[in-house]
Amino acid sequence: MNTNFTSQARDIFIVGLRNAHAMENQALSIMKPQASRIESYPQVLERLQRHIAETEGQIRRLDSILQGMGESPSALKDTTQSFMGAMAAMGHSMASDEIIKNSLANFAFENFEIAAYTSLVTLAEAGGLAEAKALLQQSLDEETAMACWLEENLPAVTLQYAGLRAAGVSAKV
Ligand code: MG
Ligand code: FE
Repeated sequence: MNTNFTSQARDIFIVGLRNAHAMENQALSIMKPQASRIESYPQVLERLQRHIAETEGQIRRLDSILQGMGESPSALKDTTQSFMGAMAAMGHSMASDEIIKNSLANFAFENFEIAAYTSLVTLAEAGGLAEAKALLQQSLDEETAMACWLEENLPAVTLQYAGLRAAGVSAKV
């Protein structure tokens, strides 16, 4: 480790990794109920399922970085935040425009993840932790790709929802 990486900076990095771990479990608790409800938007379902798999890989990366630094993820905090994620998903499932609300919320969430990993990549770089930096960069790239996909597909999803409503189709998702 770089000698410029003070014990304080190390603590900031560890807390950031733990928060990211909780964030990823929250991501799963938001995306999994969404995926289980989608019926009319197969392209969204396919991309969500792919990102759920990516997210499970991101959690494994965070676990391995934390373990490599002699730390373990905080189970209690994860449980709390996952529960809140599940509640948020349930709130949207009562809305008639569920697919739209979820699309907006997912885009916001992915951008939050981009910010979190950008910060972690910076800390890993500052600490001379090349291996951790490479793993975090992989996760950052996946979040960026997901955010771009959501942004690019928002017009199509919006028009598809409007078309289904106009046709009197009751399928909300
Ligand atoms: Mg993620
Ligand atoms: Fe993500």
